Amino acid sequence: MGRKNYSKAYRRMNYGGQCKSININFKIILMIFVVLGLFFFSLLVFYYAVGSADVDENHDTENSYILNVKKKNLYTDFKLWNENANWSLMVINDLNEVKDDFKVELKKYRGIDVDERIIPYLNDMMNAAEKDGIKLWISSGYRSFERQSTIFERKVKENLNKGYGYEEAVTLASGVVAKPGTSEHHTGLAVDLNGVRDDFCDTKEYEWLINNCAKYGFILRYGNDKQRITGKIYEPWHYRYVGEEHAKKMQESGKCLEEYVSELMN
Ligand SMILES: [Zn+2]
Repeated sequence: MGRKNYSKAYRRMNYGGQCKSININFKIILMIFVVLGLFFFSLLVFYYAVGSADVDENHDTENSYILNVKKKNLYTDFKLWNENANWSLMVINDLNEVKDDFKVELKKYRGIDVDERIIPYLNDMMNAAEKDGIKLWISSGYRSFERQSTIFERKVKENLNKGYGYEEAVTLASGVVAKPGTSEHHTGLAVDLNGVRDDFCDTKEYEWLINNCAKYGFILRYGNDKQRITGKIYEPWHYRYVGEEHAKKMQESGKCLEEYVSELMN
């Protein structure tokens, strides 16, 4: 076929079958949209599948903690919240330190210093446990900055003795012991019960606490499935007073303090 004939045939095709060609173009565009739609849909599915698998992991590093919190649209800065919120809903964690001039009204309860405002509720909880044949004892309540520093430094030394470099020793210590200023124990609103024992979660005392602590305004502060949000290891012994109303809501929704307060801030 000569060049002229070819272009004639081309012209005929174009002018003669205009309607048909629009129809074909429309089908192609539609197909492109469908393909693009499927592509973005599968991207979305992939993102959520990977995202939820990520959340289920219990390993924790600072970076993954920040990433996880951002992914969940949670707040990381509670400084303004802490200045205005009810005293029982303060959020103290690695990123939100207790202020230097923070004052706490302490009173001894069963030989342990705590914020005096939580004593009636703590007392009710301890007595109710006793009635149910559950033996609870408070192993730690309020801690001063100095006391927390001593505990933290001891952990750093332990890691140094194991052969870690200084920076690594500090990082490892802060995953297990709160850095001075970032411990909830500075507020006097938290208590450790029955010693610091990992196997406490296998006891009937723990089971009783999980089922009953919210009635008295307390929450398990560092849950096993919340390590990536609280930035803390699972602490089955650590209970924090937030008030009955909030404790019950957190228990029902399965939210930790950071998640719960983030929702209130929105
Ligand atoms: Zn504790």
